[in-house]
Amino acid sequence: MKFLVLFVGLILVLPGSVHAQVLENFKSHTEYLASDALKGRGTGSSDIRVAADYIARQFESIGLRPVSKGSYFQRFAIPEYAEMESNVIGMILSASPTDRSVVFTAHYDAYGFIESEAGGDAIYNGARDNAIGVAALIELARMFSNGDPPAQNLVFIATAGEEIGSHGSRYYVENPSFPASEITINLNIDGFNISGPRADFFVMPRQGIDFVDEIESVAGSLGWKYRSPDWIDGMNSSFDTSRFLEKGIPAVTIWTGNTLNNGETANPPKLGGIHTPEDEISELWDWDGVEDHLALYEAIADYFLAHPDGISVTDPSLFVQ
Ligand SMILES: [Zn+2]
Repeated sequence: MKFLVLFVGLILVLPGSVHAQVLENFKSHTEYLASDALKGRGTGSSDIRVAADYIARQFESIGLRPVSKGSYFQRFAIPEYAEMESNVIGMILSASPTDRSVVFTAHYDAYGFIESEAGGDAIYNGARDNAIGVAALIELARMFSNGDPPAQNLVFIATAGEEIGSHGSRYYVENPSFPASEITINLNIDGFNISGPRADFFVMPRQGIDFVDEIESVAGSLGWKYRSPDWIDGMNSSFDTSRFLEKGIPAVTIWTGNTLNNGETANPPKLGGIHTPEDEISELWDWDGVEDHLALYEAIADYFLAHPDGISVTDPSLFVQ
């Protein structure tokens, strides 16, 4: 009986500690990538190579398959930059061979180190934009690699050169690991919930695509309410998603909103603006909603892994840069 109690106790305790580990991992990726040591991960800098190496080591430790001959780097040139940049790509192959893939992206470049005449902080840490997105990418890769082999190939890409023209995603779409015409969907992560537990979410884009209903229904089964703010009406052709969408490949970014679990509207503290030296990790951050947001991405990916057909980009021209 004592053994039984112990055993039951273990079962009850284990999931909690696994979850705690996910959050600890997530924090440590974010803290490292957004640290001053990496000087804002600017395109063309030596610092962004350090970030790329870190992501590749994470992919290796998770057991992701490299994109080419033992390397996680997909190197490409950016016009007017002397150095090559690299997408960092790890894959999980499908249970049985298929050309179909679900592609996760999160850009790891930020604005780098920019001194101003006024002096002051010159490091554009890119914590919310997009160290946390890369942390989410790595932990989603771990979640899927801990599960059964997927029904389609899974591709996890930390993209380079996003802030200066979404170069990494453009290069991947033109040089994909699995045929571009067979990409089921790109699930992009750019920013992540560090505002505490939330009950609502929204997607971008919501126009020019025909699969918002599917996402709403999957999210609804987890208790999420779809609530699209008005400002999202403006299209943004600079996002990594747009390099997929303009080619007619479904793509979407999923953000959480401001509705608390009790239905009230949160009044979140004002955080340092993105694309400024103030985009740093702050004591105002509340990490308690991270795992729910990860679970939302996981559920949406699971849905499209099981339902690869019947979704489309109804107006690719909306996303052309
Ligand atoms: Zn971004």
